[in-house]
Amino acid sequence: KGANQAVAAARAGADVTFIARVGQDDYGQQTLSNLAKEHISCEFIIADPDMPSGVAFIVVDEKGENSIVVASGANAALSPVQLDAAEHAFLQADICLLQLETPLETVTHAAQLAKQTETPVILNPAPATQLPKEIWPLLDLITPNETETEILTGIAPKTDQTAQESAQILLDRGVQNVLITLGARGALLVNKEQTLHVPAPQVNSRDTTAAGDTFNGALACALASGTRLSDAIRFACAAGALTVTKSGAQPSIPTAHLINQLLKNQ
Ligand code: ADP
Repeated sequence: KGANQAVAAARAGADVTFIARVGQDDYGQQTLSNLAKEHISCEFIIADPDMPSGVAFIVVDEKGENSIVVASGANAALSPVQLDAAEHAFLQADICLLQLETPLETVTHAAQLAKQTETPVILNPAPATQLPKEIWPLLDLITPNETETEILTGIAPKTDQTAQESAQILLDRGVQNVLITLGARGALLVNKEQTLHVPAPQVNSRDTTAAGDTFNGALACALASGTRLSDAIRFACAAGALTVTKSGAQPSIPTAHLINQLLKNQ
């Protein structure tokens, strides 16, 4: 997920530094060379001598929905200490984008480091799990999909009302902005000031793999460049929509040019 989101942010036009851990194996090498091709800085990625690279196997059904099996490998060894060595990256960053495929302790530490350097934090809580209390006030934005929202709050955001209710539960825990992604229905932003529903562009859905990752990477890119939140969400929705029109994870992630073209033609 981190790699997909890094690629999505880079293709959307961001200058990306990716902090991660791979194994000293072919998958790790391949990952590093793919990231380098996307002009993503790999300075703080460590190749672990004892662990294999993390891998994900994805099966797509005839409706374009997927099932994913993940073997975490070296991702499970990404430690807070490794983040401390990358403090410079936190200092320079305009946005810190986090996911949950690395240990919770490390994710929480990343949010703390970002807070110290006054870098806004987006957490994409995927795959969903219960989060430690101390992380909530550190989050400027949380971006659960429908399933993740239900796991975090106990409420499935199927209607406008239930989406609003579940978002309120997350706001009450201390996060500033809740942005629930609703697949083909777009995304719903809820914060203290407003509720905003941004519809997704209508497209032919072929394979939903990496829609959420692309949404998050594009969102982070737009916010990092100073775009206001509502426009950043429109940009992210367009990026997510383009991803579902193509098969695969990283091959389907669009460039800024394609995203802007879709926004113009809407
Ligand atoms: P995830 O991939 O994490 O389950 P979603 O399915 O909510 O996340 O998709 C993320 C975003 O991608 C949505 O908010 C929407 O903007 C876009 N998207 C996903 N599916 C479609 C679709 N069928 N048509 C248009 N846009 C889509």
